[in-house]
Amino acid sequence: MSRVGILGGGQLARMMALAGAPLGARFRILDSAADACAGEVAPLTRADFTDLEALGRFAEGVDVVTFDFENVPAESAHWLSKRLPVFPSPHALAVSQDRLAEKNTFVELGIGTPLFAAVSSRAELDAAADAVGLPAVLKTRRLGYDGKGQARLHSRDDLDGAWQALGPGELILESFVPFDAEVSVIAVRSREGQFRAWPLTRNWHADGILSLSLAPWSLGALDAQALAAARRVAERLDYVGTFALELFVCQGRLLANEMAPRVHNSGHWSIEGAVCSQFENHVRAVLGLPLGDTGMRCHSAAMLNWVGQMPDRASALRASDVHWHDYGKEARPLRKLGHATVCAASDAEMIERLCGLGQRLDRAAQCAPLIEALRARLNSPS
Ligand code: AMP
Repeated sequence: MSRVGILGGGQLARMMALAGAPLGARFRILDSAADACAGEVAPLTRADFTDLEALGRFAEGVDVVTFDFENVPAESAHWLSKRLPVFPSPHALAVSQDRLAEKNTFVELGIGTPLFAAVSSRAELDAAADAVGLPAVLKTRRLGYDGKGQARLHSRDDLDGAWQALGPGELILESFVPFDAEVSVIAVRSREGQFRAWPLTRNWHADGILSLSLAPWSLGALDAQALAAARRVAERLDYVGTFALELFVCQGRLLANEMAPRVHNSGHWSIEGAVCSQFENHVRAVLGLPLGDTGMRCHSAAMLNWVGQMPDRASALRASDVHWHDYGKEARPLRKLGHATVCAASDAEMIERLCGLGQRLDRAAQCAPLIEALRARLNSPS
């Protein structure tokens, strides 16, 4: 038997435990929230990530530790790594917790990024705006997610307001990328260094939160570049487990936005759409088991995120090849509560399924960008 401890008890830990159970793995969750939703599928220890005494007791009950949350303090991860295997490593976690360290790593690896500059004072913000140009996006270097900790700067007049909203502190200014599409590489690397990636996924955000994903989304010659970039990052960080590399596609170029050192929302489609899901492969990787096939099980898979409110389950399940995931979380505005995955045997079938589902669930507007992209793909000559 293998016992996996997960720091963070959200939906990612929950889906990891659900995917790992058939492998014979047992899971323990550590989270400070009493209602952490992974606690419904695995025993939950309530403790703060900085509580070393609690971490010590937690470590005694497991064989390996992993994360559902990248902002676990790197010192806690480091402390644990002195006692038992921790994957991904505290170093990989530390690099991806800091947008500046992460972007510098991309640059060192020859991976394109938006222009960026570090900002730690109001004067530096002026200098950064000169260097990077406007429009731009000011972000906190740490702890930002789902568009939180970000401000758009359109003109010089916005600098004071953005600094007041996000400063003082360690920030980064990035040029605003007028992207044609957002894509992610979801990939996994084993303890022995074996690397596998799922087919490229296209993503659509609403209010800075992922709304829709579609896989596969080929960018032709850029596919190999995207995969090679993910591989270089994984090798540089000696990464073990599943991770995501988020990329902008802009005028035929790929620009790396960020990496997530964990299973990722844009890979949820792989539960039903791929031979082996991102969750199962993550568990395989951290346990030192052989990795599973990351190929598609169907022609294409679309994921619709349910944010703020769950739609009607029964209406969705009347359709064929629609898969429901309710994380069991209390509804709150802008909170990720669940998702649905739709599999299809062709683009035409996917369009038909999404049109029907969007209407029945009153989510036609949410589905629209994905349907539009599929229609364009269907009508394109290649
Ligand atoms: P992030 O938290 O960095 O992943 O940002 C959330 C979302 O904001 C991204 O998925 C993009 O849709 C948008 N965004 C972030 N950075 C930029 C940028 N430099 N240019 C354009 N859009 C951005």
